[in-house]
Amino acid sequence: MIGERIKQARKAAGLSMRQLAEKTGVSAMAISKYEHNKNTPSSTVLLALSQALDVRVDYFFRQSKVVLRDVEYRKHPKLSKKILSKIEGDVIEQVERYLMLEEILPTNPISRFTLPKGLKSRVESYDDIEDIANTFRREWKLGCNPVPDLTDTLEERGIKVFLSGVLHGEKFDGLAAKVDDAPVIVVDKYKPGDRQRFTLAHELGHLALQGRLADNLDEEKAAHRFAGAFLVPAKEAIKELGKSRSWLEPAELHVLKHTYGFSMRGWIYRASDLGILNRHAARKMWDYFRANNWVETEPGEQLPPEQPKLFKQLVFHALAEDLIGDSKAAELLAMPIVEFRKLRMVEASEQTTANQ
Ligand SMILES: [Zn+2]
Repeated sequence: MIGERIKQARKAAGLSMRQLAEKTGVSAMAISKYEHNKNTPSSTVLLALSQALDVRVDYFFRQSKVVLRDVEYRKHPKLSKKILSKIEGDVIEQVERYLMLEEILPTNPISRFTLPKGLKSRVESYDDIEDIANTFRREWKLGCNPVPDLTDTLEERGIKVFLSGVLHGEKFDGLAAKVDDAPVIVVDKYKPGDRQRFTLAHELGHLALQGRLADNLDEEKAAHRFAGAFLVPAKEAIKELGKSRSWLEPAELHVLKHTYGFSMRGWIYRASDLGILNRHAARKMWDYFRANNWVETEPGEQLPPEQPKLFKQLVFHALAEDLIGDSKAAELLAMPIVEFRKLRMVEASEQTTANQ
């Protein structure tokens, strides 16, 4: 069983047996034997493997029950199999730690994901999606204000959100999958916050729209529309921009981006979808954005990436209630114990200052 774990970590690191052999100084033959459970690595070898594969030693002893189902990649056209298994390996490892924590906590504070009540059962046009998004906002009691922490908002409702660094540099925004029946969304850890939030809302859109779309509607386009409508309700967009505009100032869009965590490009799409910009005006905006090279990287200060807090919070909760010790907490957070102790101390000193 330790064999499967070594193999899983090796795949997650994107290494061949030979490459792992080179990094550890153990022969490829020996690694093959470990992976097939024909030989058991010594503690020295385990340490070398853990360093080469960037996992903690306890990773090898964990029993994996996690299977990712219905994996769907966003913007994936030509990702190699190697990259894909690297991503999946990383996600499975994160899910495992999540489930481990859920088992430790006596009552799971995270509810099971269910769709909100009262969703329109049939979506006949893209405009119908506004209503679906509004239902989510209403049932989830989000009001019409900007959603500050989208990651935590989704996690509290039973969608597991993971940030992964292994996607970075690939033409890739994220993926959606299921573990047991719980939806899982993974986004690139290093993308600007507005990109991450759009991916999260887009994937939520897929969950929301599944089985509701009329045949003539494109599912990707529909999920995009949902993302826009969920992040900036139509009423708010009109309140911010007005009913009809001929041009939107980039500096105006930049302010709105930071208020709503919604990209400048997103605002242009939103304004076209809602008829605030007519076709001609929208084309003018896009020409301007393209001419300035703002389509891939938007100008000005970038929106900071999302910072999920829930998992960390629950680990410290378990620690405070003596359900786990330092070393288990460090394992759950996938960090060396020394680093964990620093983290714990910093949080304690912040607490003290806050209380004074
Ligand atoms: Zn999609």
